[in-house]
Amino acid sequence: MANDEFFSEKLRVPEALTFDDVLLRPKESHIEPDEANTETRVSRNVTLTVPVLSAAMDTVTESDMAIAMARHGGLGVLHRNMTEEEMAAEIERVKRADELIIRDVVTARPDQTVREVDEMMDRRGVSGAPVVDEDDRVLGIISATDVRPYLEVGERDEVREAMTDEVITAPEDVTPREALELMYDHKIERVPVVDDDDHLVGLVTMQGILQRREYDSAARDENGRLRAGAAVGPFEEERAVTADEAGADVLFIDCAHAHNRNVIESARAIAGSVDADVVVGNIGTREAAEEIADFADGMKVGIGPGSICTTRVVTGAGMPQITAVSQVADVARQHDIPVIADGGIRYSGDAIKAIAAGADAVMLGSYFAGTDEAPGRVVTMNGKKYKQYRGMGSVGAMKSGGGERYLKDTDDEEEEFVPEGVEAATPYKGTLESELHQLVGGMQSGMGYVGAETIPEFKERAEFVRVSGAGQQESHPHDVVITDEAPNYSPDQ
Ligand code: 5GP
Repeated sequence: MANDEFFSEKLRVPEALTFDDVLLRPKESHIEPDEANTETRVSRNVTLTVPVLSAAMDTVTESDMAIAMARHGGLGVLHRNMTEEEMAAEIERVKRADELIIRDVVTARPDQTVREVDEMMDRRGVSGAPVVDEDDRVLGIISATDVRPYLEVGERDEVREAMTDEVITAPEDVTPREALELMYDHKIERVPVVDDDDHLVGLVTMQGILQRREYDSAARDENGRLRAGAAVGPFEEERAVTADEAGADVLFIDCAHAHNRNVIESARAIAGSVDADVVVGNIGTREAAEEIADFADGMKVGIGPGSICTTRVVTGAGMPQITAVSQVADVARQHDIPVIADGGIRYSGDAIKAIAAGADAVMLGSYFAGTDEAPGRVVTMNGKKYKQYRGMGSVGAMKSGGGERYLKDTDDEEEEFVPEGVEAATPYKGTLESELHQLVGGMQSGMGYVGAETIPEFKERAEFVRVSGAGQQESHPHDVVITDEAPNYSPDQ
């Protein structure tokens, strides 16, 4: 029988590849890994210093994680298993975390007694306060040092006696450098910020400026505030507007299968009604990318690669991730739209392979779920420490949030869920900073092997080779018993 007769048309199918099927071909290199520049675009208007996002999952990203991610140059995407009001508060918490100008300022009135103000400062944990009149106009400033002698002798004295009334103030557009210069020149530690009519709008402190300096590669907006991402359901226009108004920089349409007419129409409407960039996902094919290219500020790729995901086994559908990313990237490149590879990344090598396939950034869930900054507490089982990690399509997560991501109508409480994810535990890993350091360090080494200094150059220069089953075995430690755990490798990851 000839080959042509043996194969039915149905089985003449293309092969799709994933992380373990490929390796980066080593190339001549002039760069040291530490010199590799990891700056990238995550959406049309948002740049990060490291190409990494934490997943919008209720066991991965709330404000603590988002703050830590942005401080270290990446982006946290807040999950949406919370009310719109809670989400707005979480976004504001991230945006305010490292703000140069503190907006929620503790103030004193001139007719208060020094004792009252001393107690107030103590209660609110500050060591100084601007003194304002009833219209919030700045009259002076008082500090713990000003108050102390009055407490010793005449404790009923009013603040107006004790305060410094020649106040050094700064305008609203003050830069950190200008504020520091004012502080050095006048030997002061805090400068009230005022508008044109001398109304108090905030406060800049020496401590705040020094803290910001610690995070010199943080992902910040044009006003110096940390970047924040937030997930919104495909039909949640109201949540999208609320998150946008609260200051989110990037909104992520959170859908397991965005190549769906209703989802695309709704995502398009959302993109039209917010200022934030809108990343649309998830998709996994060229055709899907073409459908959203006219309005998406970013494309997120991943149909079933996630560690806690059962989509492929439950539904029989999916797309191995390296092929999915490269197909979407083929289209995105023509429209200059960034691509995010979401899910399935176990090692730093997987992350940099995703970039080689055409992604501009990667999103990870399991890699970060065991860190201190992820929600949830540490539990001990058989003497080992773990944290909970569950799929957003698991029964537990859908019960507390809804199945809209999986396009399921979950209003009917009686109806049983058909989950596409599992609830699990992941080893406890310590701080996000050290996890991210290992991840980004490994990615930079990958760039070194390919001889590329920047992410765009790497995407251009990287080439893959196919790996056989024997090659895969050779890649992992073999024929040895591991005696000491490496910080970036575990055989059962
Ligand atoms: P991980 O980094 O753990 O391999 O994958 C995280 C990604 O899996 C998330 O960013 C999200 O896109 C996807 N995901 C999260 N929960 C579920 C789920 O329950 N089912 C499916 N199909 N995907 C999920």
